[in-house]
Amino acid sequence: MSIYTEIGLKRVVNASGRVTVLGVSTFSDRIAEAAREGGQSYVVIEDLMTRAGELISKHTGAEASCPTSCASAAIALTTAAFVSRGRYTDMMRLPDSMGLANQIVLQKGHSINYGAPIPTTIRLGGGVPVEVGQANEVHPEDIEESINEKTIALLYVKSHHSVQKGMVSIETMRDIAHVHGLPFVMDCAAEEDFRKYIALGADVVCYSGAKALEATTSGFVTGRRDIIQNVQKQYHGIGRAMKVGKEQIMGLLAALDQYDERDHKAEVAANVAKVDWLVEHVNAIDGLRAEKIQDEAGRAIFRCRVAFDPACAPAFDMEHVNAQLRGGDPVVWARAEFLNLGKIDFDPRPMGEGDKELIVKRLSEIMEA
Ligand SMILES: *Cc1c(COP(=O)(O)O)cnc(C)c1O
Repeated sequence: MSIYTEIGLKRVVNASGRVTVLGVSTFSDRIAEAAREGGQSYVVIEDLMTRAGELISKHTGAEASCPTSCASAAIALTTAAFVSRGRYTDMMRLPDSMGLANQIVLQKGHSINYGAPIPTTIRLGGGVPVEVGQANEVHPEDIEESINEKTIALLYVKSHHSVQKGMVSIETMRDIAHVHGLPFVMDCAAEEDFRKYIALGADVVCYSGAKALEATTSGFVTGRRDIIQNVQKQYHGIGRAMKVGKEQIMGLLAALDQYDERDHKAEVAANVAKVDWLVEHVNAIDGLRAEKIQDEAGRAIFRCRVAFDPACAPAFDMEHVNAQLRGGDPVVWARAEFLNLGKIDFDPRPMGEGDKELIVKRLSEIMEA
């Protein structure tokens, strides 16, 4: 039983990952307690924002930081900060940015949908996304020659969703931005290293709180002080629709502390063991083939990939298998990014006690039917 089954919803076996459609992640008692205490007193929100920013920066090594309601809000508010440049009247009329410099350059292979399109998130902050190059190939010239007097920033999307081949590197894009006196922004929403990209010279980096950190629903921007100050001001304008609560912020801070104390090597080893178990047991099911694969963005995330055994041709396709998994009770939710290629992936990270056994049982039932 859970609070969700109590209100009549199905139990969910999350085999997908930190995905918004399933509620991203679950937080620890320590984080829940911080959120509870945070929600039970008043505080001057402006002061909390500033202090939380200082505390976040200790974990990122940046000059300043600002908490947000999620990574999408971080991207929208950062865009708004660049468009309005700290001018009060410009800030107050956003997202209308007519006549202002408002273009954000990104590589075409980075124009992703992470559950919502990244260009939409940029437009939300008054920005105009300028996608350069082709989906599979971008040259430094594509970026360089797109820069004009309306350009306000260059954005790099570090994600497994992004096209990995043929793109211009972080370092090259950073250098192009800096030669032109432009800020270099990174969307690192799902990344697990909170220092790396600041150390690499990104001016601001956007992170999600509920993904790697497993915090309350939240996010943050970290980077140059002048930019962060402008980001924080946006809460008096378009940021109001992206309000971050005191309880979310306190949960985020607890999650950052907890993250430093977690044994990440042991977590990866435990996840790999779950994947190995799944691969072995799925391979024992007639008609299925499983293998261990690593995350496309090179993170230390391993998953079990399942396809049909080419030697036997079932009377149904992988869409059917996936629909059966999602339609049952409990719901079994696999990653379906490669469903069009006849593959589904099982992510061990969010799986609880007994989940992997249940997945194997359901797969065998579907294959026998
Ligand atoms: C998840 C994700 C986002 C959005 O993060 P939220 O915290 O859910 O708003 C943005 N960009 C990338 C690359 C993501 O993976």
